[in-house]
Amino acid sequence: MMPLDDLASRIRRSREIVVFTGAGISTESGIPDFRSPGGIWTRYQPVTFQEYVSSEAARVQAWKRRLESHRAYRDAKPNLGHYFVHSLDQRGSLIGVITQNVDGLHGLAGLADEKIVELHGTQRKIICLSCDRFYEPDEIMKGLRGDFESPKCEACGGILKAATVSFGQAMPQDAMRRAQAWTEQARIFMVMGSSLQVQPAASFPLIAKRNGALLAIINREPTPLDEYADFTYTGAIGDFCRNFNALIADG
Ligand code: NAD
Repeated sequence: MMPLDDLASRIRRSREIVVFTGAGISTESGIPDFRSPGGIWTRYQPVTFQEYVSSEAARVQAWKRRLESHRAYRDAKPNLGHYFVHSLDQRGSLIGVITQNVDGLHGLAGLADEKIVELHGTQRKIICLSCDRFYEPDEIMKGLRGDFESPKCEACGGILKAATVSFGQAMPQDAMRRAQAWTEQARIFMVMGSSLQVQPAASFPLIAKRNGALLAIINREPTPLDEYADFTYTGAIGDFCRNFNALIADG
């Protein structure tokens, strides 16, 4: 296993870093992940896309769940992990960040849109499934009170949905293409805060590795891909970044 100092020295010299992030990079901003104890999936069953479009009850369930998490998403601020990724870009080292997250925090940390691929879309927009019109979440959420019906598009009456990719919904092709291209270009591929259990996203670290990239995995729990990694840090991203920022700052 590569020592931390060596990783820092490689990162200092590299111009071709890709960071791949999952829910774990945002838990320190107060947004729970899915699979940790107390995570969202220990309390809710996911609603598939097919259920969402075919059942009013499923839509209402999805909006109720969204109501519970809306404030946490709306008010969340980027943390050390997001700022670390932004700092790589400021050094001229970052090809881009590929994220499974839907919270928009990489952008709020200052990273430009063209440096971010959101594989699973975003919670920061609501979209009409019929006419593609976008709505601001606050605008829709304020109408969901008491025994509500699922919200509809005011322009065409279509079904509204968070602009995220649900189970059973096709992955956005453009995002997948960009993520694939960046992964193939990467000389260093850093995973931060993903259980690496969700396909196809979890295949990217292996593609990078096969193309000769150094693979680093920073996650609170071991992942199924740790055995392929050149460097692993099993702990909190905040702790990793605090130690690491000092190491890569100069030199
Ligand atoms: P996951 O819940 O499967 O795994 C998150 C991983 O992060 C876990 O292995 C956990 O040990 C680790 N982790 C949690 N806090 C950490 C910390 N402070 N430091 C280091 N590691 C930490 O999440 P996933 O692999 O990203 O995939 C699940 C899906 O959940 C994604 O598709 C994503 O769309 C969605 N999701 C997104 C958000 C968000 O946008 N913030 C939140 C929850 C779920």
